[in-house]
Amino acid sequence: MKRIAVIEGDGIGKEVIPQALKALEALDFRFERVDLEVGYARWERTGTAISDEDIETLRSCDCILFGAITTPDDPDYESVVLKIRKGLDLYANVRPIRPIAAISGAVGHKNFDFVIVRENTEGLYSGIEDIGDDRACTTRVVTRKGSERIAQYACKLATARRKHLTIVHKSNVLKSDKLFLDTCRQIAEEEGITYDDRLVDSMAYSLIATPWKYDVVVTTNMFGDILSDMSGALVGSLGLLPSANIGNSHAFFEPVHGSAPDIAGEGYANPIAAILSAKMMLEWCREFKKASLIEEAINQTLCRNIRTPDIGGNSTTTEFGDAVAEYIRDSF
Ligand code: ATP
Ligand code: MG
Repeated sequence: MKRIAVIEGDGIGKEVIPQALKALEALDFRFERVDLEVGYARWERTGTAISDEDIETLRSCDCILFGAITTPDDPDYESVVLKIRKGLDLYANVRPIRPIAAISGAVGHKNFDFVIVRENTEGLYSGIEDIGDDRACTTRVVTRKGSERIAQYACKLATARRKHLTIVHKSNVLKSDKLFLDTCRQIAEEEGITYDDRLVDSMAYSLIATPWKYDVVVTTNMFGDILSDMSGALVGSLGLLPSANIGNSHAFFEPVHGSAPDIAGEGYANPIAAILSAKMMLEWCREFKKASLIEEAINQTLCRNIRTPDIGGNSTTTEFGDAVAEYIRDSF
């Protein structure tokens, strides 16, 4: 039985994660549950958002289901997600981008199904900075080891899909990206995955214009950050996008959206991203049948026109979550 930490977090995290848990319960997915309160609300109360002990607790778990956490603009506040990513060395950020049948995205395409695999520990977000009054400098770090392991993860994913890798970089300008590109090419060859590569600027255009061309897209930290948010527009609302942060022995699943303080407490947040994050967690636990039933339940619920306001309905978070759980129970 897996040991799974549940962190609802702040804001709408507290509203959407319970819906994901209801779906897991309806699926009769049994796990040892470890509830952990970390984040802004705790920081306000105690001065600590997340402690080293919490990281140890998380290390003792197989994976984490996470809602969202508010990050205040306060230099004393340590980002919870960054601390978890670092503490558990979750080097791959994975975002599947696929249409939800009953919902139209911003561009109107329906035939795409790709995954963005973003290197999560180095690149321009290395944290190595030298900030002066007249000159501010951030170091962009690319290592062979970091590039190898993200390329290996991406190739493993591609093997289970359409076996094609697209390497995204800017090596004509950033010489550091030549190491990333060459390393990814070498790993793809070793793994027997076909590959091509694209400059990040032309990739931004192509992902919106012809998204069906892509299977697995691998890239460095900041390019992946930008391309994955942009690609979210192909699907529709922010409330629809799940993600995973994966390492060699741990993983962390969270909706792409944040704690959305503007709509927190109203009961109308879209729980689909959180429920799909639970689906990704089931896949990581190799519970593929249960995972696909989650997706079917979401689609069937949308077809019954049960949907939250962000996607044109007037149902509440709980109504949606209940309908998904009910569908699962009926078809299980
Ligand atoms: P944070 O600082 O925690 O990231 P934020 O203010 O940036 O919070 P996000 O959660 O990133 O807010 O989302 C941006 C906007 O998108 C929110 O203001 C909210 O209105 C909308 N939104 C985000 N998630 C959802 C959701 N699950 N359902 C409905 N609307 C959402
Ligand atoms: Mg945000």
